[in-house]
This record gives sequence, C-alpha cells and structure tokens, in this order.
Amino acid sequence: MIGTHIIITAISFFAIFAMVYFMRGHYSTEELLLTVMVATSNAGTLLLYLSNTVGEALISNKVMYVGGIFIMYLVFLIICDIVNIKIPNWVRIVLVALSFFTLALVLSTGYNDLYYKTESLKVIKNSYGITEFKKSYGPLHIIFLILLYGEFLACLAITIASLMRKNASRRYTITVLVALVFCAAVDVIDRIMDFPIDPMPFAYILVEGILFSLCYVIREFDMSENEYNILEKMSQYGYITFNKSGRYVNSNPFAKETFPELNDIRLDSHITENYPTFYNEIMLWIKNWGGRKSVEKIIELNGRYLSCTLKHITSGANKDNIGYLVEFTDETESRNHIRLLTETNSNLEEANALLEEQKDLAEKYSQDAANANKAKSAFLANMSHEIRTPINTIMGMNTMILRESPNDDITKYANNIETSSKYLLDIINDILDFSKVESGKLDISEDEYNLYDVLKDAYLSLRTAADAKGLKVIVNNDAYLPTKLKGDAIRVKQILLNIISNSVKYTADGAITLSVGGVKADNVFTLKVSVQDTGMGIKQENLSKIFDSFQRADNENRGIEGTGLGLAISKRFAQAMKGDISVRSLYGVGSTFTFTVPQEIVDETPLGRFTGNDQPDKSSHKSYAPSIIAKNANILVVDDAEMNIEMIKILLKKTQINIDSANNGIMAIKMCKEKHYDLIFMDDLMPYMDGVQAFRKLKETDHLNKTTPVVMLTANAVRGQKERYLAEGFNDYLSKPVPAEALEETIRKYIH
Ligand code: ADP
Repeated sequence: MIGTHIIITAISFFAIFAMVYFMRGHYSTEELLLTVMVATSNAGTLLLYLSNTVGEALISNKVMYVGGIFIMYLVFLIICDIVNIKIPNWVRIVLVALSFFTLALVLSTGYNDLYYKTESLKVIKNSYGITEFKKSYGPLHIIFLILLYGEFLACLAITIASLMRKNASRRYTITVLVALVFCAAVDVIDRIMDFPIDPMPFAYILVEGILFSLCYVIREFDMSENEYNILEKMSQYGYITFNKSGRYVNSNPFAKETFPELNDIRLDSHITENYPTFYNEIMLWIKNWGGRKSVEKIIELNGRYLSCTLKHITSGANKDNIGYLVEFTDETESRNHIRLLTETNSNLEEANALLEEQKDLAEKYSQDAANANKAKSAFLANMSHEIRTPINTIMGMNTMILRESPNDDITKYANNIETSSKYLLDIINDILDFSKVESGKLDISEDEYNLYDVLKDAYLSLRTAADAKGLKVIVNNDAYLPTKLKGDAIRVKQILLNIISNSVKYTADGAITLSVGGVKADNVFTLKVSVQDTGMGIKQENLSKIFDSFQRADNENRGIEGTGLGLAISKRFAQAMKGDISVRSLYGVGSTFTFTVPQEIVDETPLGRFTGNDQPDKSSHKSYAPSIIAKNANILVVDDAEMNIEMIKILLKKTQINIDSANNGIMAIKMCKEKHYDLIFMDDLMPYMDGVQAFRKLKETDHLNKTTPVVMLTANAVRGQKERYLAEGFNDYLSKPVPAEALEETIRKYIH
C-alpha cells in the first residue's frame, strides 16, 4: 500500500522534472505550479503515512496542506484557460488570500484549537501498517472546506457554462467535466467508506494528467517555440492556426483584435453556418487547398482587405503536416488609399473628359461664332447693298427735283429728303464699320496723303454744319504741320468728321474751335486735332461710357439723333492706328475732344497756316450746270436694277452723253463686242454673272472694249472693297448712292 503512494509521489516529482526539462515552453505557470503543488501534497501524504508521532504527523500534514491548499485554485485557473473564460483579478486575489489564510491556520495547528482541536490529535497504525492521523476539527476548519468546495463548484460551473456555449469545444470540455466529477466522486466515496488510504493523491494525479494532456494538445498547435514567438511578436501580422482536420487552434493578439469573434472559439469548436464569415472563408480555402506550397489571396470582409497566406505547419524531420497557418496583414488602409487614388484619378479622368467635351463644344461654338460672324458680315454686305440701292434712287431723284423744281416749297421738302437720306447713309456706314471693328477685320491702310486735303474736308464739313446752326467757327493751327504724311487718311478724316459733327450736333449756340497741331519725333509726326465746343457738355459720370458702343449720354441729348456708335468706332480706329481719342468736358459749359495719331512723315515742308479761307461749296442745286457735255460719248451702265440705270440716265441727262445699259455681266460682254464705249459703269452683285467675273471676261479676249476704262459702281460699300476692286483692275470705284457731282467728275476723268 505504501508502495503505491511512494510511486505516486515519485511520479508527481518526476512530472516536475519532465515539465522543466522536456516540455519547456509548452506549459503555463499555473500548470507548473500545479505539478509542484501536487507533488508537495503527495509527498506530505506519504510522510504522514510514515509518521510515528503526532509531532511528525502534524508536520507531514502541514507539508501536505502547503501543496494541497492551492491545488483546487490552480485547477480552477487552468480550466478557465481551457474553456477560455477570463476571471476577474479580484476573484484571484480573494482566493489566494483565503488560501494563505487557511495555510496559516494549518501551520498553526498543534498550537491552538482553531483548525484542529489540539487534544484530539493522535496517530494510530492501521491494519496496513500505515499511520493514521486522528483529529477532530476546530471552528476555522470550515474556511478550508468552503474554499475547497467553493473552488470545486466554480470549476464545475464554468465547465458546464462553457459546454452550453454555442461554439464550445465539447470534446475537451466534457473531458474536463469528467475529471472533475471523478475527483468529487473519489472524495465523497472516501468520506463515506473511510478508506484506510487517502485516494485523493491518485485523483490529483489523474486530474493533473488530464489537464496537462488537454493543455498540451492546445499548445501543440502553438507550434514550435519560434512560431509561438512570432505569433506574439509580429504585431502587424495576424496568425491563426488550425489543426490537421481544419479546426481552429489558436490565434495571436493581432488576429483576435481584427476578429474579436476568435476570442470565443476554442479548440475543436463546432463550426456552424452562421459562424463568422471570415472563418468560413478560411475553412473553405483550407478545404479546397490540396497543394503543399503556400498560397495567397485577398479576402474582402466587412469592408476590410486582408492579404492572407495559407501555409502548412510541419513537424519533425519528415516535415509531417500537423496543421495550417493562416498569416494575414490588414491592407484596408493601403487599399483604401489606392481606391481613393483610383477614384480621384477616375474623377480627374472624368473631369478631363468633361473638359475635352467642353473644349470641343467651345471649339464648335467658336466655329459657330466664326460662321455666325461670317454670316453677319455677309448679311451686312447684303443689307448695305439692299438699302443703298433704294437710297440711291431716292437721292438721285431728289437731286433731280432740286435741280428742276421751280417751286420753293418743293425744293425745301427735297432738301429735307436729302438731309435725312444722308443721315440714313451715315448710319449704314457706321453699322458697317462697327461690324468690321467687332469682327476684328479692321484694316488700316498705309498710303501717302496730303494733310491739307484732310484738314480742308474736315474744316469744310465743320463750316457747313456750323453755318447751318449759326455757330461761330474758330480755327487754330500750327504753321509747321508737315505737308505729306503716310497713313490711313480715310480713317483719320472719318474720326475728325465724327467729332466735328458731334460738336455741332450737341451745341446750340456759341462757337466751335478746331485746333490742329502736333509733335515731331524723328520721322514721325503725332498729329493732334482738338474740337472744342460751347455745347451742353457731358456729365462727369457719363464721360467714361460715351466711347462704348451704343452708349449715349441719354438725358442730355434727348431729341438729338444718334446711334451711340460714332465715338465707339472712332476710338477703335484711333487705337488701331496707335493713336487715341479723349475728352474733357464740363457739363453745361462745353466739351473738348482731342484726337492724336502718329503718322510717318513723307514730306515735312511746312503746310503753312491754315486760314480757313476755303469756303464751303454753296452752289445750290438750282444753279446746276453740267460740268461736262459730250454728245458723242458712249457710256455703258451695267446694273440689274432698272431703277439705278434710270437714275444715272436722268442725272446725266444734261451732259447729253449716250447711255446704253445691260442688266447682267453676260449681256454686257455681248454688247461690248458689238459697240465701242468710252466708259463702262459696272455694278458688282448681279444675277448670272457678277461685275467682277464680267470684268475678267472683258479683259480676257480681244474686242472693241478691251481697253475701255471700267468704273465699279456698287452699293457694296463695306470698307476695303474699294481696294479689292482696284486691285482687281477696275479703273475707279464709286459707291452708291453716288452724288451727281462725283458721277460727272469721274466721267470727266475718263472722257475728254
Ligand atoms: P451719337 O452722337 O450717335 O449718339 P456718339 O458715339 O458720336 O454717338 O456719341 C456718344 C455720346 O456722347 C452722344 O450720344 C452724346 O451723349 C455724347 N457726346 C458726344 N460728343 C459730344 C459733344 N461734343 N457734346 C456733348 N455730348 C457729346
């Protein structure tokens, strides 16, 4: 009998050595302590059996308690670990404190009656020759019983509780349960039967064995020490291990942090359908993985991207497969960055595509705008033509009335018609110019001109208009103005006429002062012309807008005709010639418009003082006498509008010139082949063959009129056309409505 105890005790101690030497790293502190405590307790029991005196028995009993008192506590901790239940620290502290308190009581036995009644202590040898320690319990022995059975019940409770959990590891939990029940049974039977030998050391060894086996199996999958360390240390990697049959074994803190559900899974857990998706994913992966080489894949779960690698866990020299290791890193953030980048990129691409579209659209629009501009120019040219043609007739007929009517009232009416027609013509000219400015097709010519001619025209127009309103004209001019300059004389004149006509228009009484001067630098003369009036003036706040198109300082000039285009055009012209136009004005007192323009000097001989001796041509229509009479001269007028032809015939009636007419280019060519003409007036826009085509044809072949001068007489007055026609080879250009004088003058030029 004693032999079995000796063996049990030896085994208990051997277990300590075995743990320390052979199983290093495969047990926890609690397990090691449990082995030590069981060995101590068993040794105490053995010593007790071998005691001969009460004193020896008391000491042996104390040794037995040193171990035994902690056994249940440690079993409790180990079971908690196996079934994965965390117990609060205060419970541990209370249990340990109680254990030490009890131990203190036990150690004090023999000196007081608290634990054992001292007088009851005695030893007897039983029938097996083993010492029995007889004692009756003191009042505080109850603490030990409470502690022992309390801990036992706690073990039982958590094991049963764990068994009820959905994902409990049943096989192992039940084993724990069986061990516990067995222990309890042994204890109860011992108390009832009162065995001569304490069976508890056997029970302890058994429970210890069972628990260790379980812990070993669990730790088996913690793999080698290295891998175990990796599991713990590589905090940015998640590790989850599975046994050979694909069941969960263990995971490191990072894995548990990523998937808190792993905390609930223990070894041999049952996997149900609604088990965490990640687990299912992995299980499926493992199941379908036949190879030996590690494989990788991205598992997308609950918005997380996990880059996972699946490997075999091998053991021994043969590298037997003992399980699986899933290693993963959480790439959610980097993925999200990539996705964000991709999204941003695709947004950018979209934005680019949109921009591209907009660009196309803008190009299309600008194309459309260009087309619209072309259409506008074409429209203006047509409009100009269409309006000019009837005005031509009106003005022509009016001229005839003025020439021939003896009735003063009628001539007065006719004079009004003339004024209005001229004004209408001015407006059309302005609109044409404005459209040219707008479409950026403003060509500035660079021709030599006599400054005197320009100033004379400006002066005469001022004089005529001022005289009609009873305004005084004052002229101040520099004596050293160069005679000849190079530039666009027509535009310069246009600007001057515009500010002059405004000064007269907006002045009711007083005087208009025309001052001409300039500055010479090298061969450039900056011409400076100022027109000062004593008119209504312009309010300060309107000064800046009068140069804008269609802007008029409305309030003041109500009732005065105007379009608000003159100054806008003048300003643009001035700027296009690198000059400028400015204004100074005092409301109610008068205005001064100053125009400056740099012009190349061609001849700097001083012009001399401009005296203003030239008088406007006052010849009235009444005293008209033809400037030329040529009975034998033949003129061909080519025009599709009968009215125009009629007009010219009437205007030239007194010149006695023979006038033939043709309605289009083809007819004209035919006639030119049959009869010699001294001069041809050719319209441009005609059906079948226009003027330019007809002109080319005429010059192509030999016939009676190959050298006859041809004058373009057209309503197409868009600026720049004159140059175009002259460049084409036409001898001259007259725009409709052509004044009777200009018509005669041109004829005089070519017919002697
Ligand atoms: P319009 O004379 O056809 O209205 P303009 O472009 O020539 O157009 O002039 C713009 C505006 O400037 C005029 O409507 C008028 O209000 C103002 N203005 C121009 N010249 C004078 C002037 N000499 N005195 C007073 N106001 C003027």
